Amino acid sequence: MKKKLIVLGSGFGAFSCLKELNYNLYDVIIVSPRNHFLFTCLLPSTTVGTIEFRSIIEPIRNIKKAKYIQALCKDIDELNNRIFCEDTDTKKEFTIEYDLLIISVGETTNTYNIEGVDKYAFFLREVADARKIRIKVIDCFENASLPNITDEERKSYLRFVVCGGGPTGVEFAAELHDFIEEDVRRKYPGLDQYIEVILIEAGETLLNSFDKKLSEYTMKIFKRQKISVKTNSNITKVTQSEIFVSDGNNFNYGLLVWAAGNTGIPLIKDSRLPKNKRSKIIIDHFLRVIGQENIFALGDCAEIPDEPFPVTAQTAQRQGKYIGKSLNKISKGSPLKPFKYKDLGMLAYIGSNKALANTNQYKGSGFVTWLFWRSVYITKLVSLKNKVLVLFDWFKTFVFGRDVSNF
Ligand SMILES: Cc1cc2nc3c(=O)[nH]c(=O)nc-3n(C[C@H](O)[C@H](O)[C@H](O)COP(=O)(O)OP(=O)(O)OC[C@H]3O[C@@H](n4cnc5c(N)ncnc54)[C@H](O)[C@@H]3O)c2cc1C
Repeated sequence: MKKKLIVLGSGFGAFSCLKELNYNLYDVIIVSPRNHFLFTCLLPSTTVGTIEFRSIIEPIRNIKKAKYIQALCKDIDELNNRIFCEDTDTKKEFTIEYDLLIISVGETTNTYNIEGVDKYAFFLREVADARKIRIKVIDCFENASLPNITDEERKSYLRFVVCGGGPTGVEFAAELHDFIEEDVRRKYPGLDQYIEVILIEAGETLLNSFDKKLSEYTMKIFKRQKISVKTNSNITKVTQSEIFVSDGNNFNYGLLVWAAGNTGIPLIKDSRLPKNKRSKIIIDHFLRVIGQENIFALGDCAEIPDEPFPVTAQTAQRQGKYIGKSLNKISKGSPLKPFKYKDLGMLAYIGSNKALANTNQYKGSGFVTWLFWRSVYITKLVSLKNKVLVLFDWFKTFVFGRDVSNF
């Protein structure tokens, strides 16, 4: 009889595992509140319309051999091999039993409990977040175009603040810059002088996981692009209209995008599975949860104690593939080899058709690297449909500009 395998999540880790599994060996059930896979690497591009939302998602139901349940796993009962779930729409609760469980639930954004962040900041993790940002950005420009408002009000609407100088914050600021340069000047004439983009980073530099020269280059390009970077600064409080910064400054703002770090989701934080201080599930070199023979964990939500890997899509994808292959071997009684990770490096877009590549073979920046960045992501997109749509979006943006319709 086939074993019952539950996969929690529909992100990078889960998706690559699901692609690898032999469905003749397992009855697979995917449980995730999100009924699609999201290619997060291009999510910042959707916030201003460089790429459309549906171009970077893939319905999970396209994996026809697995059963999908749209629900949130609320608790894992590892002693009795069952999970407790809640339907995302009706909130109905139910239990599912498993023989094997794979946990790839990712993380959530860390607000560090700073007052007002939860209520007033915009996050960038899901398509719904990107959509909210896109609507808000356009609203800010429409509000600033109203008659009978003061220049001060206009400046407030057009003060865009990004918190977090990691890849997500940097790429969002870069996309916003491109939108302002390439579309706002034509579509909202006269507003140029009021626009301000501020990037606030608690550390000493932007992109601290990249080579020092590349982060310095980014600082230089951002200066040229008039993105004002405040390093060694923290946001201490946010109200509906004001942001308070640790250097004693406070200012009005139109939009605050919060990309200042990750933390564990409640399911993991509250679970009885072994965890480290950062609420990551502790796994062994076979990606099995310590002390649990039939539970695997991977991606952002898990960590091998003596071998922490970068928290990236690449890590989750490779681990997913490894678990898929391992499960196929286990059912045939074949021995497993421990998971080996080879870092291929990182890429980031920094605006004005320039990107960074921080790989072992090549550390570069600028226009040619941007072409490389685009070609890598086109290759990595998970379906032919996504590849065609993204190529088409890039072409459309180049020829017609970004669409500023709000709905
Ligand atoms: C804006 C952005 C840009 C990024 N850019 C890059 C990049 O350029 N390169 C790179 O390498 N990495 C990038 N990353 C990081 C990358 O997305 C993550 O490292 C990767 O997604 C981790 O994969 P995962 O499977 O662990 O989790 P995720 O892909 O986050 O998937 C988690 C899944 O679990 C589901 N889930 C959540 N809670 C529950 C629950 N209680 N029960 C069931 N399911 C649940 C979610 O709905 C989701 O489907 C970016 C991340 C973001 C947010």
